[in-house]
Amino acid sequence: MADCARKGRTRDSMDKSITLPPDEIFRNLENAKRFAIDIGGSLTKLAYYSTVQHKVAKVRSFDHTAKETEGDPLYEISVQEEITARLHFIKFENTYIETCLDFIKDHLVNTETKVIKATGGGAYKFKELIEKKLRLKVDKEDEMTCLIKGCNFVLRNIPHEAFVYAKHADSEFRFQNTHPDIFPYLLINIGSGVSIVKVESEDKFERIGGSSIGGGTFWGLGALLTKTKRFDELLQLASRGQHSSVDMLVKDIYGGAYSSLGLTGDLIASSFGKSATTDKEFSKEDMAKSLLHMISNDIGQLACLYARLHNLSRVYFGGFFIRGHPVTMHTITYSINFFTKGEVQALFLRHEGYLGAIGAFLKGAEEDSPVGPCFRSPCPCAALAYVVMF
Ligand code: ADP
Repeated sequence: MADCARKGRTRDSMDKSITLPPDEIFRNLENAKRFAIDIGGSLTKLAYYSTVQHKVAKVRSFDHTAKETEGDPLYEISVQEEITARLHFIKFENTYIETCLDFIKDHLVNTETKVIKATGGGAYKFKELIEKKLRLKVDKEDEMTCLIKGCNFVLRNIPHEAFVYAKHADSEFRFQNTHPDIFPYLLINIGSGVSIVKVESEDKFERIGGSSIGGGTFWGLGALLTKTKRFDELLQLASRGQHSSVDMLVKDIYGGAYSSLGLTGDLIASSFGKSATTDKEFSKEDMAKSLLHMISNDIGQLACLYARLHNLSRVYFGGFFIRGHPVTMHTITYSINFFTKGEVQALFLRHEGYLGAIGAFLKGAEEDSPVGPCFRSPCPCAALAYVVMF
C-alpha cells in the first residue's frame, strides 16, 4: 500500500469529522438527522451525520494567450455555495450516559425519528433506559460486524486514515493512501478489553483472540496506583514519567546488555520489577509510564504472535485506548518491529475509537437507502454499496 509522509501535520488536528464522498445519493439525506451509538464497557460513542453549507472561492483563469489590459485580469474569482456531507463524532464516559442521551434528544432526534441504531454491550444493557428517555426503539446491531464494517469503510474511503508511527523519523506520521485492496488484515481493537480479529473480505472475519489486559486495565490500575481517575490525566502523567525507576531492566540484572540474545541493557526485563525491592516512593508519573509500557508491550507482542500465526503482514490498531498517544503508538510499534524484525507493519487509525459507531451508522444508512440493503453474500456491489447507501 502506498504511503505518504506529511510533515507538520499532526494526527490530532485531523481526527474530527469525516467528509463523506460527494455522491448523488447523499442528497437524499441532506436534511436528515441520522446517527448511531456504540456503547462499550467504558465509553459511549456517537456518530452523526449533517450537511455543512459553506462558501468556496473558485478561480477561473483565462487562456494564457489573452492579453492583460488595465482592469481586465487574466483570471476571475467567483464565490459559490457548496454543501458537504459530514460525519461527526462525540464520546461520553458511560457514567454520563444520561447526558449523552440528552444530547441526542436535544440535537439529533426529530419527529420522524422512530429508531436508534445501537451497537456494543450497552445496546443491551441500556436498552430500556434509552427507549424510555428518547421514546425510540433500540435497533441493535452486532458489535463485531459494526467494528469491521466501520474499519473497512474508513480504510477504503477516508484519505490518510491509516498511518505508520515512527518516533524518530523526519515525519512522525506516515499516512497511507486509500486503496481498494485492503484484505487480508488483522485488527486489534483495544477498548476496555482487547479483541483480535482476522479480516479476510468485506463480510468474512473471525475473532481469533482477545485479552482482558486492555484499556480498562490501564485506566483501572492507573487509577489505583495514582489516585487519578481521569484517563487524560493518566496519559499526561505517563508522558512525564521515567519507567526505568519502576521497571527492572536487562542492565539491572546483567549490569549491561545480554548481547548473545540480542537484548539491550535498556530493555524491560520485568515490568514494575523494581517496586518490591526498592525502598522508596515512586512518583505517579513513573508508575503511569511503566503501566502504559507494560500494557502496550503486551498487546504489541500478542499482535505479533497472531499476525505470524495467521500469516498477516498488516496489523491495524483500533479502540480508544490508543488515543493517538505517542508513547502508546511508539511502544506498540517498537514491540512489533522487535519481535517480527520488521516483517509485520503496525498501523494506527485516525478514527480509532469510532469504528463500531461508524459501522452502525452505515448499517442504518443501508437500510434507509432507496435501493435497499443488499442481501447477497458476498455482496457484488460492495464497492458501490458504501457510496450508494447514504
Ligand atoms: P469500549 O467500547 O470497551 O468502551 P473503547 O474503544 O471506547 O472501548 O475504549 C475504552 C478505553 O479507552 C478505556 O478503557 C480507556 O482505556 C480509554 N479511554 C480513552 N479516552 C478515555 C476517556 N476520556 N475516558 C475514559 N477512558 C478513555
